[in-house]
Amino acid sequence: GASSWTEGTKDVLVIRVDFPDLTGTPATPTGSTMTPAFLTGLVQNEIAPFYDEASYGKTAISLLTADVTSTVLRMPTNAQTYAQTNAVAQMRLDALTLAEGAGYNTGSYDRIFLVFKNIGPDRYASSQFTWAGIGLVGGEFMWINGYFDLRVAGHELGHTYGLRHANLWQIPGGSSNPVDLAGSSTEYGDRFDMMGDGPSDAATQPDWFNPWFMSRLDWLGSPSIQTVT
Ligand SMILES: [Zn+2]
Repeated sequence: GASSWTEGTKDVLVIRVDFPDLTGTPATPTGSTMTPAFLTGLVQNEIAPFYDEASYGKTAISLLTADVTSTVLRMPTNAQTYAQTNAVAQMRLDALTLAEGAGYNTGSYDRIFLVFKNIGPDRYASSQFTWAGIGLVGGEFMWINGYFDLRVAGHELGHTYGLRHANLWQIPGGSSNPVDLAGSSTEYGDRFDMMGDGPSDAATQPDWFNPWFMSRLDWLGSPSIQTVT
């Protein structure tokens, strides 16, 4: 059946922030400055086409230039503190407060990215931010630890649609039975799924979601499903 959360156009807000101890416009680890033009271009040229194709047109991702905070908002706490105390939830609250103060009606958006420079262990010893991104499963909010690209932003968006990770059923060495009961589930192990650990590179491997995930999101119509008895 239809699901308003997983179908239709999703209006996106991108909140750009820096920190008292780490100022300046956020940039990706490969050196792209996260200007409104960069962010909207990446969404419009890579992420939106991916979701259009992978959902058979059932959902759309919309990011307008006006929906990227026009200024880089200054978080109230040092990046080192957020990172070392693993203050993920507090970052969300602080960012939403800043965006509201800057005139953005955060409640009017379907999905929200918080983007900032990578503040992982390479920058701060004992940083707890060992991840490239986080997305709330079935929620609206995503944290991007520098890596605003199709692989990471596309994956975190998948979480917001309600998906968890695409796993691999790892069978014992020597077994030729792909559903060997002696196997076990390896998280992220599906290399051919955006929710797994594959390259998810737009040009070489789109890494669509697997059919079970697509069906759960109501992106596969009933004519695409055959019930096996
Ligand atoms: Zn994930």
